Amino acid sequence: MLTVKEKNQLAQQTTRHKAMKAKVHEKSDLANDDKRRVLVLTGNGKGKTSSGFGIVFRAFGHGQGCAVVQYLKGDAESGERNVLQQLGVPVVTMNTGCSFKAGYCAERERIRAREVWQQTLIFLQDPSVDVLLLDEVTYMVARKHLDVNEMIAAFEARPINQSVIITGRAAHRKLREYADTVSRVDCVKHGLQIGLKARKGIEF
Ligand code: ATP
Ligand code: MG
Repeated sequence: MLTVKEKNQLAQQTTRHKAMKAKVHEKSDLANDDKRRVLVLTGNGKGKTSSGFGIVFRAFGHGQGCAVVQYLKGDAESGERNVLQQLGVPVVTMNTGCSFKAGYCAERERIRAREVWQQTLIFLQDPSVDVLLLDEVTYMVARKHLDVNEMIAAFEARPINQSVIITGRAAHRKLREYADTVSRVDCVKHGLQIGLKARKGIEF
């Protein structure tokens, strides 16, 4: 048997629960009106790109159309790219090399960034692409290869069903403000900092 006090507590909890449920429903109505999402995965810790690909695999598993654009990358091995190519998911890469490795050319990177952005625009206008991953695109904004306002305007004009995932460190304030969901991955520690080598299947 419940005491009077316990009964009152239970009644209060039920009222709070109902109010919370009503709020969630309100929000999910909003979600149905506007299906589009922009997610930003930023910060200095490990897990941004792999999380972005995780969402692509999740969407693909539901039969959704996906496309990936890898800014900065493409010249090194990538397990994710191997799988996506087998699945027939388009993966566009910039292929200009790393800024701290020999042979890096900032001007070539700028030209490639503009070319790859043109390809990105095609995806941003394609309603068969439900999920579009723009991996490491934050650096293109930071290095002034791409204009953040132009980027946001293109996001704004995309099909209603299309979600965009942006990854990379130091995401521009305007991108963080425009996104619905922003996660910052903090680095508590990273094995590479104590000299561990990048491992296939973990790092790439
Ligand atoms: P991942 O691709 O594993 O999800 P990420 O996208 O979060 O990592 P990036 O900032 O793109 O990480 O860095 C690319 C590479 O640098 C990855 O191989 C990653 O393991 C490594 N890395 C990430 N964070 C750190 C860190 N704090 N110190 C050293 N290396 C890091
Ligand atoms: Mg990354």
